[in-house]
Amino acid sequence: MAEFIRFDQLTKFYGSVGVVEQLDLGIEKGEFVSLLGPSGSGKTTLLMMLAGFTQPTSGKILVDGKAINAVPTHKRGIGVVFQNYALFPHMSVGENIAFPLQMRGVGKVEISERVAKALDMVQLSAMRDRKPSQLSGGQQQRVALARALVFEPGVVLMDEPLGALDKQLREQMQLDIRALHKRLGLTIVFVTHDQSEALTMSDRIAVFNKGRIEQIGTPRAIYDEPQTRFVAEFIGETNLIEGIVERMEGRNALVRLHDGQLVTAASTAQFNTGKKVFLSVRPERIELGTETTGDNHFKTSVLDSVYQGDHLRVQLDERAHNFVARLDRKAQEWQAGTNVSACFSAADCWTIAA
Ligand code: ADP
Ligand code: MG
Repeated sequence: MAEFIRFDQLTKFYGSVGVVEQLDLGIEKGEFVSLLGPSGSGKTTLLMMLAGFTQPTSGKILVDGKAINAVPTHKRGIGVVFQNYALFPHMSVGENIAFPLQMRGVGKVEISERVAKALDMVQLSAMRDRKPSQLSGGQQQRVALARALVFEPGVVLMDEPLGALDKQLREQMQLDIRALHKRLGLTIVFVTHDQSEALTMSDRIAVFNKGRIEQIGTPRAIYDEPQTRFVAEFIGETNLIEGIVERMEGRNALVRLHDGQLVTAASTAQFNTGKKVFLSVRPERIELGTETTGDNHFKTSVLDSVYQGDHLRVQLDERAHNFVARLDRKAQEWQAGTNVSACFSAADCWTIAA
């Protein structure tokens, strides 16, 4: 796949505040890339610069190898979907979807055909003559999607498009958008602050923090091999402990904890002896039992155990660094006060430079 979009040292300042700073990122044709990060980390600003609504302070944006900094929005071939739909209330559904085509001077007959096709794509053919106010939130968002797709843009930008929908509808729309992405071969840049949404939908996730990309990678790489403490804590839940590298053994790091215990952890980096690191262990990778198994184990006891429907959430005492374990709901119910061994393999304990 060829690189399609390239941000080259892209920077945006508002006054003296850098909201996007020297950002480098390449996106391939047909790729689904999510920008994931906390509120205020610069995700929308980056999207607005790509769409042409905001001018960069410095740096370049290339599409298909050509700088587009000076190209006006409507000539960039980019469709945009916002959280608040931004439909025209006085226009019918059909007229809303026709609007981008009228703007581009497409003829009447062709407009009618393409609107019908776009409506079919989002399964709203029966709603063509309704006003947006006569539709549900999910239907309105599908109209917005159809309007962004109707002129067959090469790139579709979506800024928290599902944020206003309730959970069930949001999850359905996630699958719908994914299916459209695959079927139409669209390049999609999708902004969200919802990590499970990003994990579900993306080919790659760029994790934003304070105007910079902390890490970019596949959902699996971001979840299993976070490169920074921020990424480990932002994506999913994790148990973090600090330690000092004793030595490397192949791709494992032997790490001494403050209480003297030695832990074997996975690492793709080679750390020097004495290096301070964090270890990240996901709650679902911890096993509890009466036997000690696996590469690492702590003799500990259960502080608290909460039934959460699909899983059991168990908090361990300080001998296991107050780790939280997430267990299958069918596991025996570990009562508070029970003595247990908490075990996890080296592969499930990830080393991060401190
Ligand atoms: P996100 O989408 O990740 O929540 P934004 O890109 O919207 O973040 O905003 C990043 C930062 O830039 C925020 O601190 C925000 O207050 C600031 N910002 C955004 N737009 C403007 C503007 N037009 N003028 C001044 N500051 C802005
Ligand atoms: Mg935003």
